[in-house]
Amino acid sequence: MSAQLHITPRVTIPDFLVGEVQSKLAYVDESIVRAHVASTGDRITLDLREQAEDPKRSELEEKVQRVVTSMVQGAFKPKVQILENYLDRPVPSSADPNPELLARGEMFQEAAGIFTVGPLVTRLISFFERQFIALADSFGAAPYRFPTLIPAKSLERVGYFRAFPHSLSFVTHLREDLDAIDNFAQHAACDEHGLNTPVDSFAKIQALLSPAVCYHLYFALADKPLPGGKLAATAVGNCFRYESVNLASLERLWNFTMREVIFVGPKDFVLQNRETGRERMRGFFEEIGLAYRVESANDPFFIGEFKKQAAFQSAFQLKFEIRAALPFKQSTLAVGSYNYHQDFFGRSLNITLPDGSPAHTGCIAFGLERMAFAFLSQYGLDAANWPDAARKFVA
Ligand code: 5GP
Ligand code: ZN
Repeated sequence: MSAQLHITPRVTIPDFLVGEVQSKLAYVDESIVRAHVASTGDRITLDLREQAEDPKRSELEEKVQRVVTSMVQGAFKPKVQILENYLDRPVPSSADPNPELLARGEMFQEAAGIFTVGPLVTRLISFFERQFIALADSFGAAPYRFPTLIPAKSLERVGYFRAFPHSLSFVTHLREDLDAIDNFAQHAACDEHGLNTPVDSFAKIQALLSPAVCYHLYFALADKPLPGGKLAATAVGNCFRYESVNLASLERLWNFTMREVIFVGPKDFVLQNRETGRERMRGFFEEIGLAYRVESANDPFFIGEFKKQAAFQSAFQLKFEIRAALPFKQSTLAVGSYNYHQDFFGRSLNITLPDGSPAHTGCIAFGLERMAFAFLSQYGLDAANWPDAARKFVA
């Protein structure tokens, strides 16, 4: 039996934090199926797996209050800076592409957040990829291939555990132990919650699934002078961010693909290239008639870190998102971002410039599935209605 719990937050959630708080509530307790924060910020509704009685009810309420208080108290409204605004660009479709994607076999859900896409979407992604690679080539970016796994000790070194603990995806294997392996081979089975294997059959975690692409480049450059004093690189890779009940269609995946163009070098080199990259992409988005805007943003830091890190990113203009219109839900979706990390990775990983100072880094990142999803939301699945460049590419 499902049930609801209504909570009045002790402090009213300001409008600029409503979405951010709502997404964090998914991680508060396993009994929460969905969390909703009223746009007025004074009411929270939790859909629960089953009716909760005291003391569980009060415990839940207390955890929710804790999240709200730590995210809201002392937070100030970030000044949203808009660098480009083409949201009113006319587009032909306002239909939800999901039903048609499913019906045509262009999208298949293996499990929550794990999707296969079909030939049309794959070709459309190749079309965008061609453009992103052209952007990388325009900087003479060197191509790289990075692993899907990322060592725990590397993520620890860049403070990832503190910043984004909620979205980590851990990798393990059976312990080198004949009994554990035999036991698994004979008894492993899945119920609705997953594998029934005892946790002590698994080895200690040394690796995780990679949450981003550019980190791998920084790890490869760590603890030495940066050859030539500056570098532009590019790579595409699988990225993993566990999103709990926030997972939704191609809009929010556990496993998604990102293409990045990465810059390492002096501050001016990184900032100038980030800006040049944005200008070049503006031309491409115009060519394909994408309705979008570019605005300042922050990363989804976990509760404790959120306030200070988000304010810092905002104050120093470290992140700008390309938010494409989703006409069917009158909202926008981040399909890419222009990021500047200052000398954070240079300092944490000891990447040095010729003058001995830490290197600065930045990246331009595109989410491939989201890019395709936003485009299909604006132009529909019938390629005959697409702008020339995209239509010719998939023909
Ligand atoms: P960022 O590093 O800015 O968080 O992510 C870069 C890009 O990756 C985002 O702009 C977005 O396009 C994509 N991305 C991030 N998280 C997700 C996700 O959960 N699902 C999907 N499909 N794409 C994502
Ligand atoms: Zn990056």
